[in-house]
Amino acid sequence: MSFLNRVKNGEVLILDGAMGTQLQKLGLEAGGCGDHFNLTAPEKVQEVHKAYLNAGSDIILTNTFGSSTLRLRHYELQDKMYEINKAGAELARAILPDDQHYVFGDVGPSGEILETSGGDASYEALYEVFKAQMVALRDGGVDAIIIETMMALDELVCAIRAAKENTELPVVASMSFSPGQFGYKSMMGIDPGRFVLEVTAAGADVAGTNCGDCTIKHMIKVIAEMKAAKPDAVLMAEPNAGLPVLENGAVVYKDTPEKMAELYKELAKAGANIIGGCCGTTPEHIKALSNMVKK
Ligand SMILES: [Zn+2]
Repeated sequence: MSFLNRVKNGEVLILDGAMGTQLQKLGLEAGGCGDHFNLTAPEKVQEVHKAYLNAGSDIILTNTFGSSTLRLRHYELQDKMYEINKAGAELARAILPDDQHYVFGDVGPSGEILETSGGDASYEALYEVFKAQMVALRDGGVDAIIIETMMALDELVCAIRAAKENTELPVVASMSFSPGQFGYKSMMGIDPGRFVLEVTAAGADVAGTNCGDCTIKHMIKVIAEMKAAKPDAVLMAEPNAGLPVLENGAVVYKDTPEKMAELYKELAKAGANIIGGCCGTTPEHIKALSNMVKK
């Protein structure tokens, strides 16, 4: 059964947790291009995927969050864009235990701001960048495209259209929100209710939220707002392990799996159909999540 049918039947599916920090434990240098490991050290990427599958993930995300030509350009790897994405999909696909586990092709922000938001990137240019990455992920065999950690709605809609118009895949669209005086807002001032209506109208099959400075407690409320605005929407949440703290020059996240466990259940109750972890989360967090939500 497809993952969408399973969640529509009432099942909660478990995503994975952070990739970059896990790759650092396996030897990725700070400031290095983790996505390049898809070509240079695929067994290490698979080791992280396996740890999440063993912890209870139903869905793993490809190691391609920063694999658009625009992001790879920072490492002079833009010419390897297609190979990095296709390999990322294939190496994840290769270790799935059965057809009830899935690979989502991970797409992050372009790093540019569209003209419509006051930047200097054209819609057509970003559309082509997203399209190229998504087609490579599709060619590698992903089950869906997940566009995450987005800050701007116009860029997210551009990415959703690029996925929908150039692949046949389901699309998960996820944005970061911040708590504030006027409620939860994206960086560009969009609230969760308007977000869910706009991204589903643009063609997203799943709407969600990840990362940012919403802790899991806030994310429960963000998901509840989305649910209230569109009760039939399929929703996803990937909270960070708390807020980032600077310790000896390194960013760390301190919410333990034990601390987050009860709140994962609340997140599901609020309406999240697909739940995972973002920055600072580990296989131990995913195990706590899976134990809490699946029992
Ligand atoms: Zn994050």
